[in-house]
Amino acid sequence: MNLPIYMDHQATTPVDPRVLEALLPYFSKSFGNAASRNHVFGWEAEAAVDEARHQIAQAMSASEKEIVFTSGATESDDLAILGVARMYRQKGHHIITGQTEHNAVLDTCRFLEKEGYEVTYLPTDRYGEIFPEQVRSAITEKTILVSLMLANNEVGTIHRIGEIGSVCREKGVFFHTDAVQGFCKIPFDVEAMRVDLASVTAHKIYGPKGIGALYVRSKSPRVRLLPLIHGGGHERGMRSGTLNVPGIVGFGRAAEIALQEMPEESRRLRRLRRRLYDGISRLEDVTLNGPALPAISDDGSLASGEVERRLPGNLNLSFGHVDGEALLLGFKDVAVSSGSACTSASLEPSHVLKALGVADDLAHASIRYGLGRWNTEEEVDYVVKATVEVVERLRREAPLARARH
Ligand code: PLP
Repeated sequence: MNLPIYMDHQATTPVDPRVLEALLPYFSKSFGNAASRNHVFGWEAEAAVDEARHQIAQAMSASEKEIVFTSGATESDDLAILGVARMYRQKGHHIITGQTEHNAVLDTCRFLEKEGYEVTYLPTDRYGEIFPEQVRSAITEKTILVSLMLANNEVGTIHRIGEIGSVCREKGVFFHTDAVQGFCKIPFDVEAMRVDLASVTAHKIYGPKGIGALYVRSKSPRVRLLPLIHGGGHERGMRSGTLNVPGIVGFGRAAEIALQEMPEESRRLRRLRRRLYDGISRLEDVTLNGPALPAISDDGSLASGEVERRLPGNLNLSFGHVDGEALLLGFKDVAVSSGSACTSASLEPSHVLKALGVADDLAHASIRYGLGRWNTEEEVDYVVKATVEVVERLRREAPLARARH
């Protein structure tokens, strides 16, 4: 077993060697510009981009021409929200989103508020869920867009995207989903789920960083966007700029592999997560943030009647009677993520945990474990041991913290 152990796969993932192999030639031998129409270098690059577009479209049941490549999901979220808001300004100025969205969505909505748009930030229940009926009641005749994520990056909550999509379609409101965390990890189908716009990124699915895409529905209903970047008219005018061919090729291959391996990988991740949770929850005062873990059979399949309400690789725990900052510093050779974001000098508890109603001290003392493709049982056992040691040591060293609870 090699140290340090990486268990933060909701933040980013390493590039799969099969992906690297596919994309490397496009840096050197096959370096053409996909927009060069009059020589073989351009044609070769264009063909590679076409194939990747096909692979990504397939992974969400879209058609190739509905995929617009961007620099990542932040740009994709921005393009969806700003693009629709500005294009349909005459129709209305109201947008609906959720309190637990990623900042790529929240900050964009806040920005639009300054431009005179109205935004409703729907609250969640204690598991991070937003229900279709909440969306229905929030829609007014001024609503032009609903933006709700497929799965949450901190607590793994999987939204009922299909049901929310149906409400939006019925009401004639466009529906965008930030599908970053769920894409190629849980089933996602823009047709069946009635999604009109979807943002995805390669680096969460073992592809390279700096490449993402926006799905833009082309018919029934057709979505039109005002672009953010103007220039040569690439990507049907929605996103100008020379295409990142190696990134795109890597993204396509990453989606193809992840889609193919999804059932097996989900079972493996559910088993590892169960082992991690069972190990750590032997400690006292550990609370699970987000949806309950599903009952599974020995091979990791969902037990009958169980529904996947949480990303298979996600575990988020809070530890009572522990100082948050000390907890973070306690993990030496294990890469996990904390429930606090360091903003300037102060440690702000995560807006997601806050929205779920987790008290500030517990939100501070929380850890997100993100299991991924190459984590092993041995690593899980090591992380259990490391967590138990850190928490027990901190509780011993700072008995005062106990008194606060
Ligand atoms: N949306 C969600 C839910 C994410 O987890 C991330 C990742 O950080 C992003 C958007 C931003 O993606 P990118 O890093 O490709 O800009």
